[in-house]
Amino acid sequence: MHHERMTPAQQTQWIAERARALGFDLCGVAPVSAESLPELARLPEWLDRGYAGEMKYLHDARRSDPRQALDGARSIIVVALNYHTPHKPPDPAAASPRGWISRYAWGDDYHDVLREKLNALVAEMRAQIPEPFDARAYVDTGPIIERVAAKYAGLGWLAKNTFLINPKIGSWLFLGAILTTLALEPSLAPGAAPLPDFCGTCTRCLDACPTQAFPQPYVLDARRCISYLTIELRGEIPEEFRPHLGNAVIGCDICQDVCPWNRKAPATPLAAFQPRERLFAPELEWLASLTQEEFSAVFRKSAVKRAKWRGIVRNACVALGNSAASLDPAARERVAALLHRLASSDDAIIATHARWALTQFPRPSPQSLAPR
Ligand code: SF4
Ligand code: SF4
Repeated sequence: MHHERMTPAQQTQWIAERARALGFDLCGVAPVSAESLPELARLPEWLDRGYAGEMKYLHDARRSDPRQALDGARSIIVVALNYHTPHKPPDPAAASPRGWISRYAWGDDYHDVLREKLNALVAEMRAQIPEPFDARAYVDTGPIIERVAAKYAGLGWLAKNTFLINPKIGSWLFLGAILTTLALEPSLAPGAAPLPDFCGTCTRCLDACPTQAFPQPYVLDARRCISYLTIELRGEIPEEFRPHLGNAVIGCDICQDVCPWNRKAPATPLAAFQPRERLFAPELEWLASLTQEEFSAVFRKSAVKRAKWRGIVRNACVALGNSAASLDPAARERVAALLHRLASSDDAIIATHARWALTQFPRPSPQSLAPR
C-alpha cells in the first residue's frame, strides 16, 4: 500500500490520534538531544546522595541518556494511561485488620497492559510511515526518564511529590515511552515553556508523608519512602520506619491521595485496572498466612509479585503490629497467635518482623494479672 509521505507535524498528530484510539489518555512528543531533557542532568546527584537506596538498576547510564538507550534516537513519544478507580482507603476495622495495597497494583500488572498497547502503536507506525526508522517501546525504563520526557512532551508538570501531574486528570497515571529515530515534531513549539507548575504554595504531600521522605520539595529520598520499603527493599525494614508504615503492605499513595489535583481524577474504564477480589484492602491475617504457592497463585500477572512472598508476609507482620492497639480482644488473641507462629518461621526476615510486631501488642497490666 502506498502512503503519502507525512510531514513531521502530521506524523506527530497521527501518532497522538492512534494513541488515543488505543486507549491512552495522553500522548505527546519530546525531542531528544543533550539539552532537551535538562532534569536528567540532576540524576547523578540524586544517586550520589544515596536516595535510590538498593535500586542499583537506576545507576544504569541509559536511564539518564535516551541516546544511549537507542542509537540515533531523535524523539521520544510519551503516553499516559489513567488507572484511577474511585475506591477510598478503608476505615481501620478492629474485628479484622485490613492492609493497604497501592492503587497501581490492584489489577493486572501495568507493565503488560502498557507494553501491549505500546507495541501495537509501534506496529501501526511501521505500517503507516514508509521511511526506515528504529523505535523501541519502554515501560519503566527508568521512572526518571519517563517523567521528565512527559513534562517536555507537554503532558503535565513535575510536582513537589515528584509525580507528573496533568491539570485535567491528575497523577494516577502510568507512563510509557517510545524512543525513535524519527524526527517527529515536538508537541511543544521550540522555545515554548512546558506546562506551568501549579503546586504553588501547597505543601500537602510533603506534610502528609508518614516517613518524611521528601528532603526538599520535588526531591524524594526513596530509602525513606514506604513504596521502596515495602516493595524494593529485600532485607529488614529499618526499625525506625516500621511504626510509620501503618497498614501499608504494598506501596502507600498518601502523597497522591492528599493532592488537590487528584480530587477530580476521572475513573478508568479499563477492566484490567479494577481491583482483583481480595486485593482492595486485603485482610492482613490472610496475607500473613499465605504460603509461597498461594502467593504465586493469587498474584499471578500482578505487579505485587515484585515484592515476593517473603516481602509481603514481612510487610503484613509489620502492619499487624501497627494494628495491635485498635484490635478488639478476640482479634488481638488471634493475631498474636498468628504472629507467634510466624516468629518461629524458618525464614529469618519473617521471624524478625513477626517478633517486632509482637512487641507492639499492649502488655497485660500487672493489676490484671494480680490474684484477686
Ligand atoms: S508514597 Fe508515601 S511514604 Fe512515599 S513519599 Fe509518598 S507519602 Fe511518603
Ligand atoms: S499536594 Fe500540593 S504540593 Fe503536593 S503535588 Fe499536589 S499540589 Fe503539589
